[in-house]
Amino acid sequence: IASQEAEKRGWHLYLVGGAVRDLLLAKTAGSLMIKDIDLVVDGFHKSADVGAGVELAKALQQLYPAARLEIHGAFQTAALLWHKDPELDSLWVDIATARTEFYPYPAANPEVEASSIRQDLYRRDFTINAIALRLTSPRSGELLDFFGGLLDLQAKQIRVLYANSFIEDPTRIYRGVRFAVRFGFEIEPQTEEFIRYAINSGVYDRTSQENTKTPALQTRLKTELKHILEAPYWKSALQLLDNLGALQCIHPTLKLDGSLLRQLRLLERCLRRFDAEQTLIHWQMRLEALIAHLAPEYRVKVAKNLQLQEDSILRLKNLVQSFSQVIECLPTLQRPSQIVQLLRQYDLPILILIALQSPRSLRHQIWEYLTVWANVQPLLNGNDLKKLGYKPGPLYRQILDDVVAATLDGVIKDRTEAEEFLA
Ligand code: ATP
Repeated sequence: IASQEAEKRGWHLYLVGGAVRDLLLAKTAGSLMIKDIDLVVDGFHKSADVGAGVELAKALQQLYPAARLEIHGAFQTAALLWHKDPELDSLWVDIATARTEFYPYPAANPEVEASSIRQDLYRRDFTINAIALRLTSPRSGELLDFFGGLLDLQAKQIRVLYANSFIEDPTRIYRGVRFAVRFGFEIEPQTEEFIRYAINSGVYDRTSQENTKTPALQTRLKTELKHILEAPYWKSALQLLDNLGALQCIHPTLKLDGSLLRQLRLLERCLRRFDAEQTLIHWQMRLEALIAHLAPEYRVKVAKNLQLQEDSILRLKNLVQSFSQVIECLPTLQRPSQIVQLLRQYDLPILILIALQSPRSLRHQIWEYLTVWANVQPLLNGNDLKKLGYKPGPLYRQILDDVVAATLDGVIKDRTEAEEFLA
C-alpha cells in the first residue's frame, strides 16, 4: 500500500536499515520478527517534495486510522505506530525523505536518482545496515547495495562506511559492538583500527564530559547502552567495549576490571533472587553498577550526562553516605532485629548497590536480611492483641514490631510463646 501511494505521487520508496539486514539474515538463519520498519522516500530531487516522507505518512494514516502519526518536522521524518500491545503486537514504521542535496537535474535521470538514495545510505553506520530494497516499480524488489553489505553479511563482518565515521558519531562504536555480539560477527580489522583511532584521539570527550552542547549525543549513548544492557549478550558486549577502550565514552576512568566483573555477577544473582517479578529496571541497575564503580566524585556527573532517571541519580548521589553508614554500623550489631532496624531504612536498589561493594561478611548479612529477616511477619495480629486486652490504637504497631523483633532474635517461636511474651 505504501509503495502504491508513493508511486501515485511519482516517488520511489525503499525499505532500508535493520529490516533489510534482518530479512537477508533470516534467509540463512530462519526466523524473523520485524517490529521496526524504516522507509525512505525519494522525491526525485524536487524541492517541493522535501516533505515527501511526511506526506506519505499522512496518506497512510488516512488509510489506517488505527495507526498513530508522529511528525518530526525538523528532520522531515514521520512515524506511524501500531500499538495493540505495548510488548508483543506493535509495529513502528519510520518514513524519511532521502537526505540529499537537491540537484537541478531532470527527475527521471536514473544516475541522479541512484545518487540520492546512495547518499542517504552513505550516512548510515555499517555496510550491513546500508542496503536498500526498492519497493516501487520499475525494478521493485531490487536490492541497492552500494557498499558491499551483502558480502559483509555473508562474511559476518561489521564494516564501517568511511574512516571518520566514529569521530563524527562515537555512539556508532557501541552500535558496532552490539551488532557484532548479537549476530556473532567480527568487527572488520580496519573498522577496529578506526574505532581505536577515534578513541585515542579523545572522541570520548564529547560523550563523557559535562557538555551541554552534546545532549543529543548523550541521549544516543544512553539509548545504545540501554539496548546493550537489556540484551542477553550484555556481558560479552561490555567485554568487547572494554577491549576496544570504548567504556571511556561513559567515563575516561571506567575499566571492566576484576572487581567490577565480580560485582556484575553478584548483581545478576541479586536480580534473579530478589527481583524475579522485575519490578526494578534491570538494564538500569547494570548501568548504575557501572557508574557506582567510578570514584564517588564522578558518579552524579556521569549519571546526569547520561540523563538517567531522577531516582537513579539520587541513589548514586547517596551511595557514599549510605554505604559508609551500613559499613560502620553493621559490624557493631549482634541481633538480627537490630540489623533489620538499620537496613529497613534503605530500599532494594540501594541495598543491592551497597551489597555489591561490601566485604563478604557484611554482604551475607544484607543477603540474610533480604531473603529472610525482612519477610518475617508478626506471629499475632490486631485481633489477637484485642483478645489479650490491648486497646486498639497506635501502640499496636509498636507491639507488633516488638513481636517481630522477638521472633527475629529467636526469643519466641510460635503464637503461644508470643502471647506469653506479651503477657
Ligand atoms: P535494531 O534491530 O537493533 O533496531 P536497526 O539497524 O534497525 O537495528 P535502528 O537504531 O533502528 O537500528 O536504526 C535504523 C537504521 O538507521 C540503521 O540500520 C542504520 O542504517 C541507521 N542508523 C541508526 N543509528 C545510526 C547512527 N548512529 N549512525 C548512522 N546510521 C544510523
